[in-house]
Amino acid sequence: MREGGAAGAGDGSLPAAGDDATGRSSPLHGRTALVTGGGRGIGREIALALARDGARVAVAGRDRVAVAEVAAACDGLAVSLDVTDEDSCRAAVAACERAWGRLDVLVNNAGVAGSSKFTQLDDETWDRTLAVNLTGAFRMTRAAVGGMLERGWGRVISIASVAGRAGYPYVAAYVASKHGLVGLMRALAAEYARSGVTFNSVCPGYVDTAMTEATIDNVMRRTGRSREQVLERLVTPQGRLVRPEEVAAVCAFLASDLAGAINGQAIDVDGGELFP
Ligand code: NAP
Repeated sequence: MREGGAAGAGDGSLPAAGDDATGRSSPLHGRTALVTGGGRGIGREIALALARDGARVAVAGRDRVAVAEVAAACDGLAVSLDVTDEDSCRAAVAACERAWGRLDVLVNNAGVAGSSKFTQLDDETWDRTLAVNLTGAFRMTRAAVGGMLERGWGRVISIASVAGRAGYPYVAAYVASKHGLVGLMRALAAEYARSGVTFNSVCPGYVDTAMTEATIDNVMRRTGRSREQVLERLVTPQGRLVRPEEVAAVCAFLASDLAGAINGQAIDVDGGELFP
């Protein structure tokens, strides 16, 4: 895979605005998007959803094989990215601008999670969690937003969490990073309110991905509980995990023209968990 190398068309040969060849509506026709951590889990579904809605999509992450697979499925760009590296963030945005002339939609999805008692939370875990979940999104947004502001249209969508909206035990670094991410989006929504660029967070409850599987394994190991017992504590009030496609569908809408008046919001996709 070459950096910014097209896994498929990057030539503007998109279906006519409105409907695609199958008659589906394509509200993101002509838009370009980059999804961080797009190689698996929620990011993968977001990349696929944006592409289905007509956007040209760059799939970015550290796992080159996973990124290339999703990029091929999207007919998009595979981009090598480590969000903890400033140069890598700038290069990822530059790869989109080189391929398409601009980047319209940034989805800050890359994230890490871990759990421990607060008194056992070490500096390394704290620093890494903040570096990926918060500083990574800050750097990607700073790299991408200049062009959006110049053109007077853009979307920055950050995948936060219910942990960006409320406190949870044993995940202090994660909760702090996701509260920071929600705050970052709100600050930018206020700063650039009249710019045509919007900044929003999407806040899922536990989603059916590898990250949640790791949480289940961790809690089982620490507590001796069965998988079913652990899962019962993680599911939403609807009695199930959130599906990645459900998070992706919200992102696809937020990326569209019709979502232009939604700005500075933190949208819960949590089966009603935080509903008072
Ligand atoms: P996942 O399956 O573990 O995927 C995490 C993604 O982040 C991977 O694609 C990974 O790609 C990428 N990533 C991690 N560190 C990175 C780095 N330094 N640079 C670039 N990419 C990096 O997790 P997920 O469940 O899909 O979670 C996606 C997002 O949703 C995260 O921000 C997470 O906090 C949030 N979220 C998840 C849940 C849940 O229950 N799963 C709930 C609420 C919010 P590489 O390893 O290839 O780099």
